[in-house]
Amino acid sequence: MQRPFNFSAGPATMPQEVLAQAADEMLDWPDASGRRCGMGVMEMSHRGKEFQSIYEQAEADLRELLVVPQHFKILFMQGGGLAENAIVPLNLSALRATDGNQGVVDFVVTGGWSEKSHKEARRYCQANVAATNAADGHTSMPDAATWKLNAQASYVHICTNETIHGVEFQTLPDLKALGSDVALVIDFSSHVASRAVDWSRVGLAFAGAQKNLGPAGLTLVVVREDLLGHALSICPSAFNYQTVADNQSMFNTPPTYAIYMAGLIFQWLKRQGGIAAMEERNQAKAKMLYNAIDQSGLYYNTVQPHCRSRMNVPFFLRDESRNEAFLAGAKAANLLQLKGHKSVGGMRASIYNAMPMAGVAALVEYMRAFEKTQA
Ligand SMILES: *Cc1c(COP(=O)(O)O)cnc(C)c1O
Repeated sequence: MQRPFNFSAGPATMPQEVLAQAADEMLDWPDASGRRCGMGVMEMSHRGKEFQSIYEQAEADLRELLVVPQHFKILFMQGGGLAENAIVPLNLSALRATDGNQGVVDFVVTGGWSEKSHKEARRYCQANVAATNAADGHTSMPDAATWKLNAQASYVHICTNETIHGVEFQTLPDLKALGSDVALVIDFSSHVASRAVDWSRVGLAFAGAQKNLGPAGLTLVVVREDLLGHALSICPSAFNYQTVADNQSMFNTPPTYAIYMAGLIFQWLKRQGGIAAMEERNQAKAKMLYNAIDQSGLYYNTVQPHCRSRMNVPFFLRDESRNEAFLAGAKAANLLQLKGHKSVGGMRASIYNAMPMAGVAALVEYMRAFEKTQA
């Protein structure tokens, strides 16, 4: 069965073989040796040996895939990216606060998501904007050398891939090289596992699972151990990274089914050749789509080429009155969920790990055919 290609920004398309495996295991989960246990994953105690093995395998596979060093904890939490916008300052903003004073935090605002993160953090700390690309409508990347970093800041927050505006850091900023020893916090929700991460530059990384890791409901947090233990007293216990880490993400019931699904994705990623192979494929997919946009007379993308996202490709039709016809034709051609985010308009094609090259090729072919009908 060839399903339609689904370009949703999230929750997003999943590899068909992963969904088929989950379907096969839905009623009666088999362990690694194929022995069925009489229960589906949703029905298992999170403390039983069956789920423990699922959890441990998922964590080990993720650590291997993303090459996460041992001095970082991997936490499986809930609440999504937006909850992390509060949970991060609740845990880290006091890292360098002086007695009785609010912590100071720096934000680099490069699009809709980092903007939201900045707004939420202001409830808990003094949140500065160290740099922003707002003047050009979030289509560029402010050079790290120009950021106005605060030496007293507890951390610097960036969104490494702006899902809505389609702006991506192609390399992580090296704060040490800029003379700063402040921890870097990255929201890598929409490009996690699409490319390698240089952990020597990162203090904490978080990602909602529903773009590249699995279903909604699971939030991945990777945090350097020395950043634990500084939570504000008002931080909810279930959101205190130290508490979560001390209990192997089982302080309260974790999102067991979502962890299981993410675990299947991690095994699928390993079968694909790991992150390096995915990165190569993602580069080729993005290149094909951006080339088609740049070479056309109908479509255009406004993001500066050096910071264009490989995962989320917003584009516009020069004749906006054709938007509805474009989307209707796409749907008829089995190309789904291409409508742009409401704050930006136009179209957006999200081409995460699970989108095959064939899906991008089908989209490009449709775009060319549609353009011809407009002549
Ligand atoms: C999707 C997304 C989020 C929001 O995640 P929720 O799970 O909806 O809270 C946060 N940051 C980025 C970059 C995202 O793409």
